[in-house]
Amino acid sequence: IRFGDAIIKFLSGANVESAYHEEIYRMTILDGLTGIHNKRYLLEFLERELAGAKRHAHPLSLVMFDLDFFKQINDQRGHLAGDHVLKEVAQRIRPRIRREDLFARYGGEEFAVVLPEIDLAVAAQFGESLRKMVEEEEFVFEGRRIPLAVSVGVADLDPAIASADDLIKKADARLYRAKQSGRNRVVVAR
Ligand code: GH3
Ligand code: MG
Ligand code: MG
Repeated sequence: IRFGDAIIKFLSGANVESAYHEEIYRMTILDGLTGIHNKRYLLEFLERELAGAKRHAHPLSLVMFDLDFFKQINDQRGHLAGDHVLKEVAQRIRPRIRREDLFARYGGEEFAVVLPEIDLAVAAQFGESLRKMVEEEEFVFEGRRIPLAVSVGVADLDPAIASADDLIKKADARLYRAKQSGRNRVVVAR
């Protein structure tokens, strides 16, 4: 109900106040389209995990991937097809994420997985399993198949990494090299 500038919302049921605030909180940390975490939450999580990993000299890896030629899907099949693919990719990867990991939409058609306690070699295997899964799974929209692939960049901690931003830059540079060297591949080294 609107009173001039004020909008009053009535909620019924037990504990509506906390349910309401929970919902608002959910909206600030989750991505509206895919339901996975958003970039804001990713940065907070990564900053926290990075500090802990450095303090205890534990491994931490970041896997970033971006859908290949995604613009073509929008152009050829429409924006709804593109949205469908983004949702589907997120949904199919979700079950492969451990409780302690974080899966987030970094932006557009780029995603990130933070892997605490995981070193570069194991993170590389994980990146490869994601790449393979996307290549092999069937994505269908309105009865027609949409072939899909991802390019993946994998990075781990090193003494030069001081912030979440540094680690993201490292993974992103490798992702960029995966694109440059032909796409649908994983790059784990400089
Ligand atoms: P590359 O293989 O180099 O990554 O090429 P690409 O076509 O995937 O990348 P490009 O950056 O050229 O295009 C990404 C497109 O993703 C452009 C943008 O409109 C689209 N996009 C970003 N967010 C969304 C979204 O939420 N829904 C849809 N349908 N499209 C989106
Ligand atoms: Mg892309
Ligand atoms: Mg992109």
